[in-house]
Amino acid sequence: MSVHPRIEESEAGGTVAIDDVVIRGFVMTETACPKCGQSSTVFDFDHDAQFCPQLNEWIEPACSDARCEFCSNRPARPLERFR
Ligand SMILES: [Zn+2]
Ligand SMILES: [Zn+2]
Repeated sequence: MSVHPRIEESEAGGTVAIDDVVIRGFVMTETACPKCGQSSTVFDFDHDAQFCPQLNEWIEPACSDARCEFCSNRPARPLERFR
């Protein structure tokens, strides 16, 4: 799992391809991953959260509101739902 994923934002914006997975979001190049230093992280619109595509980990913890529309259905790993 040390191979860097291919990260590609759609030209029109609004979606990001991480290898063969396409999610709704955008690439963040201003904030590197604090864990692995990956310079391009991804903001996922569906879960209103930023994640590291290299580690397949969320960067921010989910909020504690069980009714939160973004966090309550957040998968343990950002790309898990596709694999
Ligand atoms: Zn990382
Ligand atoms: Zn939340």
